[in-house]
Amino acid sequence: MSTRPLDRINEIIIHCAATPNGKWFTAFDIDQWHAKRGFKRDPRQAQYSPHKHIGYHFVIGIKGGVEIGRNQYEIGAHCQGRNLSSIGICLVGTDKFTIRQWDALKALVLALLMKFPNAHVLGHRDTSPDANGDGHIDRSEWTKTCPGFDVYTWLRGEMQPLPPHLLDMP
Ligand SMILES: [Zn+2]
Repeated sequence: MSTRPLDRINEIIIHCAATPNGKWFTAFDIDQWHAKRGFKRDPRQAQYSPHKHIGYHFVIGIKGGVEIGRNQYEIGAHCQGRNLSSIGICLVGTDKFTIRQWDALKALVLALLMKFPNAHVLGHRDTSPDANGDGHIDRSEWTKTCPGFDVYTWLRGEMQPLPPHLLDMP
């Protein structure tokens, strides 16, 4: 089963590509990396897409372009245990992103929240297991650093770019 009804979607999970900050990569590159990792899209879902492997639903490049990976009905491959009910967005870079990326991320997340108003927005690292069971996933519990910034701080700041994570680049 590779698809889901859209009413299953209750999370929007933000990732980074773990590529050098400010360096140009596209969904095409990620598709090749995910092919090597053995990810494979359902051919029926991918038939009109150039990307046959990519696990994310969206990729945001350093110029702020938003590329489509999987379609929203299609179960992603980006966050173990959460794929069935989430949409995955990947920012190219590791922990610093261009103003265009921040703008595009805000626009995309706002658009998705119009469609999925009850969805919880979080970073990949925020899905780490709550090892001490206190109800919070803190730094000591992260099993990964992706997406390289605190999504909750970004949301509380009305989705404005986070200065320590803003890449100074036109
Ligand atoms: Zn990730």
